[in-house]
Amino acid sequence: MSLRLQAIKNLQNQQSLDIGSPAKITAIFCQNVFTLKTAREYLSDEAYKSLSSSIKGNKKIDRTNANQIAAGIRQWAESKGVTHYTHWFQPLTGSTAEKHDSFFTLKGDGTAIEEFDGGALIQQEPDASSFPSGGIRATFEARGYTAWDPSSPAFIMEIGNGKTLCIPTLFVSYTGELLDYKGPVLKALEAVSKAAVDVCYYFDKNITKVTPTLGWEQEYFVVDEGLYNARPDLLLSGRTVFGHQSAKGQQLEDHYFGSIPERVYAFMRDFENESYKLGIPLRTRHNEVAPAQFECAPIFEEVAVAIDHNSLLMDVMDRVARRHKLRVLLHEKPFAGINGSGKHNNWSLSTDTGVNLLAPGKTPKTNLMFLTFFINVVRAVDQYADILRASIAGAGNDHRLGANEAPPAIISVFVGKYLTEVLDAVEKRVTTKFDEQDEAILKLDLHKSIPELMLDNTDRNRTSPFAFTGNKFEFRAVGSSANCSNAMTVLNAIMAQTLTEFKEEVDGLIEKGEKKEIAIMHVLQRYVSESKKVLFEGDGYSEAWAKEAEKRGLPNVKTTPYALDAMVTKKAKALFENTGVYTHAELEARHEIELEKYIKQVQIEGRVMGELCTSHVLPAAVKYQNVLITNIKGLKDIGINKESYANQLQILEKISLHINKCSDLVEQMIEARKKANVIEDSRAKAIAYCDDVKGKFFDEIRYHVDKLELLVDDASWYLPKYRELLFLR
Ligand code: ADP
Ligand code: MG
Repeated sequence: MSLRLQAIKNLQNQQSLDIGSPAKITAIFCQNVFTLKTAREYLSDEAYKSLSSSIKGNKKIDRTNANQIAAGIRQWAESKGVTHYTHWFQPLTGSTAEKHDSFFTLKGDGTAIEEFDGGALIQQEPDASSFPSGGIRATFEARGYTAWDPSSPAFIMEIGNGKTLCIPTLFVSYTGELLDYKGPVLKALEAVSKAAVDVCYYFDKNITKVTPTLGWEQEYFVVDEGLYNARPDLLLSGRTVFGHQSAKGQQLEDHYFGSIPERVYAFMRDFENESYKLGIPLRTRHNEVAPAQFECAPIFEEVAVAIDHNSLLMDVMDRVARRHKLRVLLHEKPFAGINGSGKHNNWSLSTDTGVNLLAPGKTPKTNLMFLTFFINVVRAVDQYADILRASIAGAGNDHRLGANEAPPAIISVFVGKYLTEVLDAVEKRVTTKFDEQDEAILKLDLHKSIPELMLDNTDRNRTSPFAFTGNKFEFRAVGSSANCSNAMTVLNAIMAQTLTEFKEEVDGLIEKGEKKEIAIMHVLQRYVSESKKVLFEGDGYSEAWAKEAEKRGLPNVKTTPYALDAMVTKKAKALFENTGVYTHAELEARHEIELEKYIKQVQIEGRVMGELCTSHVLPAAVKYQNVLITNIKGLKDIGINKESYANQLQILEKISLHINKCSDLVEQMIEARKKANVIEDSRAKAIAYCDDVKGKFFDEIRYHVDKLELLVDDASWYLPKYRELLFLR
C-alpha cells in the first residue's frame, strides 16, 4: 500500500492528545525563564545590580560578576533538572541554532564536577563555518563567535530531547561583522530611539527614552504527519509543488468562522502552554481563511524581545506538533490557489512617560506630536519603499506577494478616510501665512474620531501591505516564515533617518526665527505633499491599482533577486551607514546571503519537482495508461466497435500527452538548471533561477502533473491530494 493510502487509513485511529490545562496561565508564565525576579533569588546584590543595569543597556558586565551570574543561572537551571546549556542564536539560515554542552566537566586531577563559568556564559565558538556569512569570513577571518546578549533572558527549552539551558546570544565574526539577524535590529532600535527622543523634545522634555514595540501575528497551516510524510515536496521545500485544486477549497469561507478542529485544538493548547512557560505572552488563537490555516498572536512587547519570542514560538510549534503527529507549515504559500500565510508586524513607538507616539492625542499639543510621528512614518515608507520591499523578499514570499490572496509587491500605506482628510487639510491649509492660533487642524478631535473610524475596518484595508490601525502601523507584507528582524531593522532604521532629517529641517527654520509649532507644521506640510503618492485606500489586489501605482512611480518588484537590489544601492548604503546599522561590507554580505538562500530554495524546489515527476507522477500515470491499454485491447479483441471504447481512447490519449509533456519539460528544466549552476555571479545566478528555471518551467510542469492527477485512478496516485491535506486530520 502506498504511503498516501496508509496515512489516510491511519487517520481513522488518530486521536487528539489529552492536554491538561493549567488552572491559570499566570501559574506557569515565565516558569522556564531566568527573569529579573528569579535573578533576585539566585544572585548576590552586586551580581543582580550588574545584570539589571546591563539589561537596561547601561553597563557592561565584568568578569567577576559574569562568573557569579553564570553560577546563579546554573543553580537555577539545575534546580529544574537541566544538565546541558547552549548558546542560542538566530543565524541567517532563518531558523535558530544551538550547540549543546554539558555543565559536566573533569578537573585536572580527574574529579568530575558541574561547572558553568562567566566565560562560558559570555562567549562561545560554534563551528561557524557552516553558517552563511556572504563571504565575510572568507574576506576577514575564518571564525566567528556567539556573544551573550543580556537584554534577552536565559530560558530552558524542555520539549523533545531533554532540558537545555539556552543563553540568547549574538553571532559575530572575529573582525566584528554581525552574522545574525539580531545584531542589526538592536542597532536600528538604538538609532530610532535616539532620533525619536530628539523629536519628542519639541513636545515633552520629560521623555528620555523611546522604545519601539512589536506585536506579530503568526499565520500557519497544520497537516497530518502521515500525509505530510507522503509529500516529499512538503518535507524538503515546505510547499506543495504539485496538487490539483480540491473541489472544495476556501470558497465557502466556512473554516474562518468554524470551530477549531479537535486535534489541532489540543496541539494549540499544548504549544501555548509551552510558550507561556517560556514567557511568550500569547493572547489570541483562531482559524484563518483557508482550510487548515490558523493564527496566533501575543500581547505586543519591546521589539527585540518580541523577535526572540517569535523565533522561539516557531521552534516550539514545530516541536510540539510532532508530539501530536501533526506538522506545522510556516511556508508563505504551502498550497497554490489557497490563501498564503503572513506575519503581520504591528509596530509603534512608546515613550518612557507611557505615551504611544502613534496614538492620536487629546490636546492640540499631543495632536501635533501624533501628527509629527505619523507623517514621518508615511514619509519614511514613501522614501524607502524599495528597501522595505527588499526586507521581506524571499522565495516563499514571492508566491504570496502579488498573488490573489495577499498584499501586492507594491508598498503603499493605508491610513483610513479620516486621516486622509486630516493630511489633505495639512497639505492645503498650511500655507506660508499659516498661523497656529486660528488653525483648526491642531484642534481636531483626533482621539475621538479615529478609533470610531477604525472600527469601520473595511475589507479593502486588509489588502494594504502597510496600514494604520488606530494606534499602530501594521506591516502586513512580512512572510509567515520570516524572522521579524529584517523587517524591523529596516522599518526602525528608515524611521530613525527620517526623524533625524525632520529634526534638522525644523531646527533650521527655528534658527531663522520661526516659531516652533509653525516650523513643525511647515515641514510636515511639505512631507505630506511629497509623500502622498504612497497613500492608497482602495483595493490593493486590483489590476487597476497596479496600473495606478505605476503612474505614480511606485516600485512594483515581483521577484526576490530583483527586489534585493534595493539593499545595495547608494541610498541604502547611506541609510544604513548614517544609522549605524550596517557597514557597507555587512550590507554586501547580507545581499549575497539572501541571493544564495533564494538560489538554494528554488534549486531544491526544481529538484523535488523533477524527482517527483519521474518517481511518483509518471509511474502512477503509466500504470493507469496500461490499464486503459489492456481494456481497449480487450474490447477490440472481442470485436466490439470502436465507438464503444472511444472514451477510453480519449483518456488514454490525454494521459499520454501529459506524460510526454511532463518528461520533456523536466528534461528541459534540468538543462536550464545546469546552465544556471555554472553562473558565478550570485545575482545573475539568482535571476537565472528565477526567470529561466522557475519562471519558464514550474507552472508548466505543474499544469500537466495536475491534469494527470485528475485523470489517473485515485487508488494509484501516490501523493496525498489537496482535499486530504486540507481537510483530513
Ligand atoms: P486586531 O489587529 O486583530 O484588531 P489588535 O489591534 O488588538 O488586534 O492587535 C493585533 C496585534 O497588534 C497584537 O499582537 C497586539 O499585541 C499588537 N499591538 C497592539 N498595540 C500595539 C502597539 N502599540 N505596538 C505594537 N503592537 C501592538
Ligand atoms: Mg491584524
